[in-house]
Amino acid sequence: MPNPIRITPIGGLGEVGRNMMVVEHDDVRIVIDCGIGFPHGSERGLGVETYLPDVRALRGRPIDAVLLTHAHDDHCAALAHLIRTGTPVGRIVSLPFTVAMTEAKLSEHDLPIPPLEAVDPGQEVAIGPIRAEFIRVAHSIPDAAAIALHTSIGTVVTTGDYKLDATGQDTRRQVDRARLTALGDAGVIAMLGDSTNAPLPGRTPSEATTIEPLNDVVDEASGRIILTSFSSQIDRVDHAILAADRTHRQVMLLGRSMRRNVKIAERLKEIHSPNLPPLGKREVEGNPKAMIICTGSQAEEFAVLSRAARGEHPDLNPGNGDTVIFASRPVPGNEGPVEELQAMLRMRGARVVTHQDAPIHVSGHARADEIAEMIRMLRPTSVIPIHGEQPMLAAQAEIAIANGVDAANVHVGQNGDVIEVSPTGLALVDQVDAIAVPAGSDGLPLEAGEPG
Ligand SMILES: [Zn+2]
Ligand SMILES: [Zn+2]
Repeated sequence: MPNPIRITPIGGLGEVGRNMMVVEHDDVRIVIDCGIGFPHGSERGLGVETYLPDVRALRGRPIDAVLLTHAHDDHCAALAHLIRTGTPVGRIVSLPFTVAMTEAKLSEHDLPIPPLEAVDPGQEVAIGPIRAEFIRVAHSIPDAAAIALHTSIGTVVTTGDYKLDATGQDTRRQVDRARLTALGDAGVIAMLGDSTNAPLPGRTPSEATTIEPLNDVVDEASGRIILTSFSSQIDRVDHAILAADRTHRQVMLLGRSMRRNVKIAERLKEIHSPNLPPLGKREVEGNPKAMIICTGSQAEEFAVLSRAARGEHPDLNPGNGDTVIFASRPVPGNEGPVEELQAMLRMRGARVVTHQDAPIHVSGHARADEIAEMIRMLRPTSVIPIHGEQPMLAAQAEIAIANGVDAANVHVGQNGDVIEVSPTGLALVDQVDAIAVPAGSDGLPLEAGEPG
């Protein structure tokens, strides 16, 4: 019996967000993702801005490498917290956009930054005797990856957040089906899979399906356009800028993360739009041909759009004649605040267009048929659904079993489960503490003496 691989999800099971997982084998300790979670519903407004993963279980032993699947905050924004606890981190490895975003975010803290290493898809990285490989997948941010860990007893694949969007014109947004299939042919002993949209039937539409509807909304707007989306959704921002160029609108980016992310995307050639000269305040206020692209699609209290709706933004005062486009949708739990924000904008006289008025938003997560396809490509011996609330995990488990995975080798678990994976199956062998640690806007735990 070869020594099994130990996998411990610390966050992201039974919840959306806070994704973090420890993989240990042959004296190597790897962490995959290190994200924050957000309060929702009744948790909002209690002083808790974010939830952090409980990294106590990591104390006392260094991490050889942190591998990041992509740059969303729920996968990498708890890195500062992890570093602050003093746990040594040998290096942080991912694809170039993720590494650049991580570097930008970590440099906002006064912390030592571990060595950052950008790799290309297909390039193998040796972490002791384990070889890690990043495989391109489609998601709602550039450079999303699945990660294969090739160990002495076999290969484990974590999908990261993904969908199987095959219609993007850019090969850098396409899933590497050939490589995933080749991994399946060679043998995958376990798959850890994104469960977010597993309860939904069919397939998630391609990002490309949002382009025409967005163009139509832009064409219909007679006055100024204020567009908000996730600032890391570079393709959506890119499409908006191209629509502005086409209709001779001048573009201004508002919001720190929007400017930062677009700058990084420009540098790495992840955005196609030509130069983006920012307009001055007077021009934006008076210019009916402007398009302002800003942060705040989730009604975050201090983001540009919320401040503008309250009349508190120095450069943006929405009102009559403006069209405000929400090229996004509220993340679960944010529906109330987002509706309130939209009502405030309407009260100021603006026209509000949302994903309910036009198909200008699609999800970045695979639905049931795509998950089935992923399982048929990888043909894993064992499946551990990750990323999602319990019903989402259970839905992925059902899909796995329906596609030939032995029910005994499918583990619907919870944070803190220590799971041993071998070429023949898996077993739950232990449980460690893995609570959600409440934190303030500074990313620091709220309570003194908190779990480190
Ligand atoms: Zn995620
Ligand atoms: Zn994501």
